[in-house]
Amino acid sequence: MRSKTWDAIIIGGGIIGVSLALELRHHGAQVLVVERGEPGREASHAGAGMLAALDPETPAALREMARVSAAKYPEFIAELKAESGMRIDFRRNGTIYLASAEIPCEGTELSAAEVKSLEPGLECSGYVAYLLAEDSVDPRELMAAALEAAKRRGVEIARGSPVTQLTIEADRVTGVRTTKTGFASPVVVNCCGAWAGEVAPITIPTRPVKGQLLSVVFPQRPQHGRSLEHVVRGESVYLVPRSDGRILIGATVEEAGFDKRVDTDVIQQLQQAAAILVPEIGEARIHDAWAGLRPGSPDGLPIMGKTSVGEYFAAAGHYRNGILLAPATAMVMSRIIRGADPEIDVSAFSPSRFPCDEHVAFRSA
Ligand SMILES: Cc1cc2nc3c(=O)[nH]c(=O)nc-3n(C[C@H](O)[C@H](O)[C@H](O)COP(=O)(O)OP(=O)(O)OC[C@H]3O[C@@H](n4cnc5c(N)ncnc54)[C@H](O)[C@@H]3O)c2cc1C
Repeated sequence: MRSKTWDAIIIGGGIIGVSLALELRHHGAQVLVVERGEPGREASHAGAGMLAALDPETPAALREMARVSAAKYPEFIAELKAESGMRIDFRRNGTIYLASAEIPCEGTELSAAEVKSLEPGLECSGYVAYLLAEDSVDPRELMAAALEAAKRRGVEIARGSPVTQLTIEADRVTGVRTTKTGFASPVVVNCCGAWAGEVAPITIPTRPVKGQLLSVVFPQRPQHGRSLEHVVRGESVYLVPRSDGRILIGATVEEAGFDKRVDTDVIQQLQQAAAILVPEIGEARIHDAWAGLRPGSPDGLPIMGKTSVGEYFAAAGHYRNGILLAPATAMVMSRIIRGADPEIDVSAFSPSRFPCDEHVAFRSA
């Protein structure tokens, strides 16, 4: 009897892996996601969920992809809600971006009076404020709905043990090995986020970039009668309101290895920095605090496309924008895997820009 094979195996059940699984399944593929723990509990659980497609700090090479992905979001959300039957907090109120000086920016510059009328509780003196037409989403609700939709679409998920290596024959991938078993497929995609480098024999060079953040709630209705409506992005802190009244405050950017501990002093500093922008936050109660590991890459761009092993692909290294970039990544990767034109120029993201193969020699030495 022949053992089971899938058309594609995706390693890693975060938002990147699950979005791609949904897209490949939509095109008729039998898909297996192999997740070492519980799907959707790493960076995709920790993110703030800003869909910051117009951020002036986004690298130029990423802007087209960011815009395409942001434009896909309303449909992405509608599909996931319909297919999962779950709610997803998707907010379309825009971002107030605060810069210390005028900058080239694809937003509308706001006067101090306009800022006050949009956000009565926000102190913006000393800043130039811009209104950006950006959305935000609750990544946990997004992830839960994506997983439920994947289940209903017939995507299979094997959880609980990590993929340690690929199986390869004649320079082409034939499947994966986990610590417990093996799975066969002629196509494998590494969507392991900050851990992408741990699947032998080639190293996709991502690294963890720690982010700590907290959420606060107001014990009473804020003085101005309503909580924050817009995302606010300042220079040292950002504020992301949720529809249930919580406000997320983030985030640190730390090179701390695979450490996800939360430091209460750091959390307090974040709350204090937020209270400079919205003084009432100084009185708000901390609801939760957590840390996650962004998948960083050596040049700050995603690592997406074919690798040097036949039919082994990477979709990792989305760093600070993986929630935003999930729908466009799924579209582009599914097209590359199916041999179609990716529709977006993704040459800047090619895994071949890094000397992955040197790591092969290093690893097997
Ligand atoms: C504090 C913070 C704030 C953020 N804010 C935003 C934001 O506002 N907007 C935005 O767009 N993005 C934001 N991000 C970034 C975003 O969360 C990430 O880019 C995105 O979640 C990456 O998704 P992923 O699926 O690649 O990685 P992950 O969600 O980390 O998923 C990778 C999965 O692979 C699994 N895995 C790893 N190794 C193996 C293995 N060997 N075998 C099997 N499974 C494996 C892991 O267990 C994990 O489930 C933020 C991130 C953090 C940490």
